[in-house]
Amino acid sequence: ISKIAVLTSGGDAPGMNAAIRSVVRTCAYHNVECIGVYRGYQGMIENDFKEMGPRSVKDIINKGGTVLKSARSKEFMTVEGRKQAYENLKNQGVQALVVIGGDGSFTGAEIFNKEFGIPVMGIPGTIDNDIYGTSHTLGYDTALNTVVEAIDKIRDTASSHNRLFFVEVMGRDAGHIALNTGIGAGAEEILIPEEDLGLERLLDSLKRSKESGKSSSIVVVAEGDKIGKNVFELKEYVEENMPEYDVRVSVLGHMQRGGSPSCFDRVLASRLGVKAVESILEGKTNYMVGLLNDKVCLTPLEQAIKGSSEIDKELLRVSDIMTI
Ligand code: ATP
Repeated sequence: ISKIAVLTSGGDAPGMNAAIRSVVRTCAYHNVECIGVYRGYQGMIENDFKEMGPRSVKDIINKGGTVLKSARSKEFMTVEGRKQAYENLKNQGVQALVVIGGDGSFTGAEIFNKEFGIPVMGIPGTIDNDIYGTSHTLGYDTALNTVVEAIDKIRDTASSHNRLFFVEVMGRDAGHIALNTGIGAGAEEILIPEEDLGLERLLDSLKRSKESGKSSSIVVVAEGDKIGKNVFELKEYVEENMPEYDVRVSVLGHMQRGGSPSCFDRVLASRLGVKAVESILEGKTNYMVGLLNDKVCLTPLEQAIKGSSEIDKELLRVSDIMTI
């Protein structure tokens, strides 16, 4: 293999730039050419490439987002679109592809490999940490730190006014961000999709906390939570049932996806990039590189796409004990 292409696809996440840098420099280390593809699969279809050498990725390890830009490509979902993408790669002399993204992007990579035989390797990049085969996805650790910092600030104002705050955090259908930041920021309750607390128990818990002398509270709500009410409806529900509470809502939103990557994410990105390129050079294809028990390892893309990342039930218990 003498030329590898790298792209970022789907939602962006802090650490993607550090991963691009790692892929580019590992290629250079092994005397393999590397080209970057702008705007994910869409750029592959539109011939949007850029030659990348080790110096072209200077000053990006500390930057959030992705210098290659990301996109969702409807055209890549069609055979014609993928054929065009393959023709373009072939004209560039590209012989393998590294895809930094989520499970949708991996599905695209898997199909692309089946159709055209080009080796593909995935690097998990999403703040949601919802991918099987890795304990951490790129951007997750940074997002945790961003969210904890934000909740700490909300706590200052909550306790000054004796208020109850519902703080909605990202995570798609997974509760990893909510559960970990809830414990890290000392939340009273944590609502996650994997565990339905139920409205009754939420009220009981809030009553208990009031009786135990707490004057303000933070409830962290995962965006995918299945309690049946969104954060604004939860506010109304609690106000109706517990008029003594002054309730506010804060939806943290896209700030969770941005910012300079944490040291953990930078190191993880560097390790995963090296493994992705070296695995391709060893003749491997259709794997995702990930971290398990602090070791970099490979998981077949198919499993990474189909499997689900379970939450750690022990954390739920820890959270319960902490809110006594
Ligand atoms: P995130 O977790 O942030 O959403 P993702 O990688 O799962 O990231 P998606 O929008 O699901 O994001 O997928 C990114 C792109 O991958 C899509 O826009 C599309 O181009 C490609 N893709 C997804 N599913 C398929 C598929 N079944 N066939 C071909 N391409 C696909």
